[in-house]
Amino acid sequence: MSLVLGAIADDFTGATDLANNLVRAGMRCVQLIGVPDHELDLGDIDGDVDAVVVALKSRSCPVDDAVADSLAALEWLQARGARQIFFKYCSTFDSTDAGNIGPVADGLLEQLGGGQTVMVPAFPANGRSVYQGHLFVGDRLLNDSGMQHHPLNPMTDADLVRVLGRQTPHPVGLAARPILAQGGGATRAHLDTLAADGVRHVICDSLDEQDLEVIAEAVVDYPLVTGGSGLGQALPAQYRRRGWLAEVSQPGRLAPAAGSALVLSGSCSRATLGQVAAFLQQRPGFALDPLQLAEGEAHLDAALAFAREQLAAGGPVLVYASADPERVKAAQQALGVARAGELVEQALGQLAQTLVGEGVGRLVVAGGESSGAVVSALGISQLRIGGQIDPGVPWTQAPLPGREAPLSLALKSGNFGGEDFFTRAFTVLDELTGEGAA
Ligand code: ADP
Repeated sequence: MSLVLGAIADDFTGATDLANNLVRAGMRCVQLIGVPDHELDLGDIDGDVDAVVVALKSRSCPVDDAVADSLAALEWLQARGARQIFFKYCSTFDSTDAGNIGPVADGLLEQLGGGQTVMVPAFPANGRSVYQGHLFVGDRLLNDSGMQHHPLNPMTDADLVRVLGRQTPHPVGLAARPILAQGGGATRAHLDTLAADGVRHVICDSLDEQDLEVIAEAVVDYPLVTGGSGLGQALPAQYRRRGWLAEVSQPGRLAPAAGSALVLSGSCSRATLGQVAAFLQQRPGFALDPLQLAEGEAHLDAALAFAREQLAAGGPVLVYASADPERVKAAQQALGVARAGELVEQALGQLAQTLVGEGVGRLVVAGGESSGAVVSALGISQLRIGGQIDPGVPWTQAPLPGREAPLSLALKSGNFGGEDFFTRAFTVLDELTGEGAA
């Protein structure tokens, strides 16, 4: 067996977002966390796999590290026969003049033998579109969308040809909407003309799904494509047309789920606060307080005792640090921002480790950083991607050493999901793993 698509994502939730779209478009997909172990082979992964998405933390790290990790991931994916490589970054093109999008794309392209690649950040379904090379978030230009204030990579210029031009020594070109409107053949001819002029990177306009389909048709033979998860949804149809990918009736099917149900929430985003409140109206929950966590073990022990009792009674149970902005601010003023966050993340990691060890088999985690802490406490390095609960959030499964059934895991970044997410997630899991699952 060899891979159709090998993807390298510059952060964890971005990787899941892409993987989710690949599954929705008909690929069986596994997400690997960090540069894959060279001992790991596709045969070691349970079930068939068409696409592997490697989740790195390379969005805001020093550029040399980002390039080195991306090349190491590429080496693993190439050795497993990936026909096309996809470098995934954020649909808001999160980067600085130092990188990391340009240098990583250059490094990957060189390793793949040169040539040209496309840059397709747009995700029209989420309001990210590109016109004449300018990135819009909804009806605002990128530099007027709030992204100009981003703490790590403020985006102060919406002209992506110019933005990328500052990150690479190579010429940057544009495939604009009027070309795309003429279809895949004309777009490919335009890309070829640019390539003959030595243009390595081509920023592609895209206003809607149809534009993404045209781009996918034009670039399906490229060794490297780059962009957001929108392009990921358009490529599998082209792979099928090429005969690389079989029709799979249930790409998001998961193994039967077993074990009790737990929700851990460390997100204080508005959507999560609503989800916590909605859950507490129906089911029990325990509020973790960073100030009490700082005083010693007793608070965490109380959370554990509460969770055990409720799980024994049938679950699902919620343990949450999620709090409104005033309470978060109070904890941060008393403990410092970093320490307050660390205490919560450590507690969530310990709870996950202990309770999964005692039989939890279905786990929902809310919060991007919180998910990272839980996944690392559990020592998880691979996730089979299942069907979607809400846009951008799939159920996943990870093998557990010494346990027959895998751990079913839903990792939700802060602002994702409907209000009933914490209860409905478990109903969706039953549908995904039961008879006739999609
Ligand atoms: P989101 O995806 O909503 O941004 P994250 O988990 O990425 O959620 O980030 C939330 C951060 O806030 C984490 O570092 C978490 O530990 C921290 N946190 C959670 N609850 C509290 C709290 N009550 N007080 C202070 N910090 C908190």
